Amino acid sequence: MKAAILNDNRFVIREIPKPVLDEYGTGAIVKVTGCGLCGSDIVKMRTGKVKTGAILGHEVVGEIVEINSKTAFAVGDKIALGHHVPCFNCTYCWGGNYSMCRHFKATNIIPGGFAEYIYVSEEHLNNTVFNVNLNLSDIEASFLEPLACCLRAVKRAKIKDNTKSLIVGLGSIGILMGEAVKVFGNKVYGCDLIYERVCLSEKFGFDKSFLLNDEEETLNAMKEIAPEGFDTIFLTAGASLSLNFALRAARDGATIVVFSSIKDITGFKNNDIYYRELTILGSYSPSPMDLEDSMSLLESGKVKVAGISNVYPLEKLNEALSDTLANKIMKAYIQL
Ligand SMILES: [Zn+2]
Ligand SMILES: [Zn+2]
Repeated sequence: MKAAILNDNRFVIREIPKPVLDEYGTGAIVKVTGCGLCGSDIVKMRTGKVKTGAILGHEVVGEIVEINSKTAFAVGDKIALGHHVPCFNCTYCWGGNYSMCRHFKATNIIPGGFAEYIYVSEEHLNNTVFNVNLNLSDIEASFLEPLACCLRAVKRAKIKDNTKSLIVGLGSIGILMGEAVKVFGNKVYGCDLIYERVCLSEKFGFDKSFLLNDEEETLNAMKEIAPEGFDTIFLTAGASLSLNFALRAARDGATIVVFSSIKDITGFKNNDIYYRELTILGSYSPSPMDLEDSMSLLESGKVKVAGISNVYPLEKLNEALSDTLANKIMKAYIQL
């Protein structure tokens, strides 16, 4: 089968052996129809967390072509999935930090979504695999995992009624985050350096978004909406400057949700947190429950994702990567 193998920060298309169900006993073989290129794939590549030879991709949509399972899934089922499964029975799981569970981190699909076929374990089928409703396109269904990540962040922020949230960074994750905040009925605002993204966010239901060209000007314009600052801030941008902006846009006592990897070693200052009574909160990866919520929001159309992605064939994965890095596109969907 064809797969995109990582080779020194680039992808090379190679023929590799197809996963064989008999080798694992239970589980399923899925023919991948498409897979989203996630920001975290790019971070993993650039920080050397994944090495040459790895096969990335986890926002998978596909069809079950072979199965040996006690679950109700069958050959021919169209599915979308989450790639990590928590054990539900450890300190992290008991604390609700499912994505910190060591078993969660150890589980995965094999070999990765940028391949024609993957092996999905029985444990995945039981917890993190979902049938895709006929009213959803493959591209829409590929948002199952990224939307679930955002839902988890919004749940963790425990946003109160009649409060205002600000999303810093309006890439695909920023847009999804804003839509997730809206699901809970709260006001949501956004800001970004790119004008088109500011406009696009308003089409996706943001109450208002701001162009972040000059920090002072933007903060001044924001004062009309949130004179004291925003109650909750979601940091989805990867630039270290956004961290300082988040601090300035936050009201005293605000919650700042950290939802991106920032390359430079910079942090929130102790005394900002102390004297301003700020809550700085991380959110990473979704639980099976978040995936379930995500699928029902996509199915019901309460969260709309059509129009966010650009489609590339597997052979053009490198182009998809460079277009994403150059901010030419919001999100790449790799069609197999
Ligand atoms: Zn992802
Ligand atoms: Zn666990």
